[in-house]
Amino acid sequence: MSEESHPEIRDAVRALCKGFAGDYWRALDRERTYPTEFVKALTDAGFLAVLIPEEFGGSGLGISEAAAILGEIHQSGGNGGACHAQMYIMGTVLRHGSDDQKREILPKIAAGELRLQAFGVTEPTSGTDTSRIRTTAEKDGDDYVITGQKVWTSRAEHSDLMLVLARTSPRDDGGDDGAKPHDGMSVFIIDMQEAQKSGLTIKPLRAMINHATTEIFFDNLRVSARNMVGEEGKGFRYLLDGLNAERILISAEAIGDARWFIEKACNYSNERIVFDRPIGQNQGIQFPIARAHAQTEAADLMLKQAIKLFDAGKPCGPQANMAKLLAADASWAAADMCLQTHGGFGFAEEYDIERKFRETRLFQVAPISTNLILSYIAEHVLGLPRSF
Ligand SMILES: Cc1cc2nc3c(=O)[nH]c(=O)nc-3n(C[C@H](O)[C@H](O)[C@H](O)COP(=O)(O)OP(=O)(O)OC[C@H]3O[C@@H](n4cnc5c(N)ncnc54)[C@H](O)[C@@H]3O)c2cc1C
Repeated sequence: MSEESHPEIRDAVRALCKGFAGDYWRALDRERTYPTEFVKALTDAGFLAVLIPEEFGGSGLGISEAAAILGEIHQSGGNGGACHAQMYIMGTVLRHGSDDQKREILPKIAAGELRLQAFGVTEPTSGTDTSRIRTTAEKDGDDYVITGQKVWTSRAEHSDLMLVLARTSPRDDGGDDGAKPHDGMSVFIIDMQEAQKSGLTIKPLRAMINHATTEIFFDNLRVSARNMVGEEGKGFRYLLDGLNAERILISAEAIGDARWFIEKACNYSNERIVFDRPIGQNQGIQFPIARAHAQTEAADLMLKQAIKLFDAGKPCGPQANMAKLLAADASWAAADMCLQTHGGFGFAEEYDIERKFRETRLFQVAPISTNLILSYIAEHVLGLPRSF
């Protein structure tokens, strides 16, 4: 097995996760309820504040430690999707917010008093082409008035604040004025309690997995101009700035899932006796497990490379994207292998495999779909012609 980074952090996370075993996650999955106790335990232990600098009350650690935490949650059979964004959404405020916003928000997140773990970007009609979002924020005196709709905004019901991307000027296809389709969007901080009194509606969206995801409707929601993050019109750039961190952390989760599947498959194929011998004695069973292990460890090497560059402050777009691609593929291959290894029992709820199988499938689609990663590698890394 590969050498694990941050063994002390991983031990602590593993110990915490022992208190939240398969039956805990199964019960939540059945009812599609939020893992409140688990998230509280992670918050109280300070794990969700690792990326917040010490001057704002966090532990000021790197993406490497954050990846170890999320990876270990998934390797232990849990799911970080309920709260992983609490780690990294604040990065938009940290990098681009005003001093007042940082002083107001970051220490409270670090202390576990405030949750900022929802970011509304995706809309029903725009798809991955974010430049086509239709949610608008119109300036009106000292305020902006937001109108539109978001979909798949996860954790919105469990967040005190959310960030939302809205158009502050119409889409411009580009031309003589030098404008680009992705200019003219801005990021706002929304106070969820206040907003729900005056123009924001959240509707839970029942999905294939328990992900606390929602649709959000903005009906002339008035927010102060002080709630804008950074400069007007630069929201998409701010979004891009956070993507490498997100790619890295999601890769860590996918690799954690893959390792969980591989361990389950190894244990079962050592124990399950069919035709008077363990099924793991058959190479037809062994080889898919060995292949999944090799794929997972290769993805982990790419992830380590991305992490090293990220924590050194160096560009890491290609590595972060390739890690996400390889890790999502490895976890999906491992999930399929694990289900097959368990035969009929793979479908039984109590084995947790069917739940993890559904959960890990998400990484092929969100937060970014596989095709879009391939497109990035083809065009931005290999210099192939742009297709859109
Ligand atoms: C459980 C869940 C949680 C989510 N949480 C959030 C969240 O918190 N906040 C948020 O903003 N969004 C969230 N999302 C949305 C997610 O980021 C998008 O679903 C994802 O980016 C894909 O976008 P889309 O669904 O609009 O697919 P589309 O853009 O409509 O694409 C559909 C398919 O076509 C492919 N495709 C599109 N264009 C091309 C092309 N040019 N070449 C090749 N293939 C192409 C895509 O790869 C995809 O497979 C979540 C989604 C899910 C399912």
